[in-house]
Amino acid sequence: MKISRVKDTKINSIDFENLVFGKTFTDHMFYCHYRDGKWQTPEIKPYQPLTLDPSASVLHYGQAVFEGMKAFKDTDGKLWLFRPQDNFNRINLSAKRLQIPEFPESYFFEGMKSLLKLDQDWVQSGTGNSLYVRPFVFASQPSVQASASMEYIFMIICAPVKSYYTGGEINVLIAEEYSRAANGGVGFAKAAGNYAAQFYPTSEALKKGFQQIIWTDASNHEYLEEAGTMNIFFKIKGTLVTSPTNDRILDGITRKSIISLAKQDGIPVEERPIKVSEIKEAHENGTLEEIFGTGTAVVVLPIHSFSHQNESYRLPKETPIALQLKEKLVGIQYNTGEDPFNWRQAVD
Ligand SMILES: *Cc1c(COP(=O)(O)O)cnc(C)c1O
Repeated sequence: MKISRVKDTKINSIDFENLVFGKTFTDHMFYCHYRDGKWQTPEIKPYQPLTLDPSASVLHYGQAVFEGMKAFKDTDGKLWLFRPQDNFNRINLSAKRLQIPEFPESYFFEGMKSLLKLDQDWVQSGTGNSLYVRPFVFASQPSVQASASMEYIFMIICAPVKSYYTGGEINVLIAEEYSRAANGGVGFAKAAGNYAAQFYPTSEALKKGFQQIIWTDASNHEYLEEAGTMNIFFKIKGTLVTSPTNDRILDGITRKSIISLAKQDGIPVEERPIKVSEIKEAHENGTLEEIFGTGTAVVVLPIHSFSHQNESYRLPKETPIALQLKEKLVGIQYNTGEDPFNWRQAVD
């Protein structure tokens, strides 16, 4: 790997107390080109704009996938990743679905760890502070031919972030018209276009005063599937229920971690399809106790109300299970708690 460092760091100009999620990036980036049928020697270089041919395939056909993960710094200044092998496996699973060549495991881990060590001062310690790590790959071949590109660029960029806590209530709208994913489609992949397609329905929901859309199945809008770009959990009569993963649902690493932690705490968990009518009935008879979303950016996000067919349903203010599970997960991430499943991985 070739490493070229910045002459001067820009870290001193950063206001770490007032970071806007995903807008500030560190000094360096990881870059690797695929051409002539193979991944070329990777590089770490100063964070900078790219030069792309206007016909670059990704700009026309959206052949691109990404990952979202975080690096944490403990009170001794040591850096940690959380289940990074799962992110590596998932980006290649996403890539395969988009006909993008798999990225080598050693390049991914050596590249990411070198980058993190180089930019380690950008990771602030303290709960809530972390470095959001964004690996991504896109089709760079200059060609408007509608077929898989022969050239790709794999990159990793890093953004220091603060806790996602918004302070406000999270009120969600259950989708009755639009869909995020369909059978046989790319919902399970972190494919760039999945997110572009959510922006319009989500902005319509925002205008109506909702913070998120709960996506339902594309056939009948009968089953609850995901909350925006999070997986979703319901606590009904003491049991946590979440949708099983399939080709429409993203296999979230936070989701499966929450399931393991809940089981360890003796909380019953069911992975099964959940009908909209079921949670409305549970609300009616007082057994719907909590709803929360899970994902790397938010970890666990309690939801305060949902709306369906122009009716709004409020949830109890207290969300003890969401908070209990979040605290456990965060303790593992920041190396302050036990790590019974060996999820933490040191960056060294
Ligand atoms: C990334 C993502 C999630 C959460 O996955 P994590 O691995 O927990 O970050 C859930 N749903 C969608 C649609 C996503 O893109």
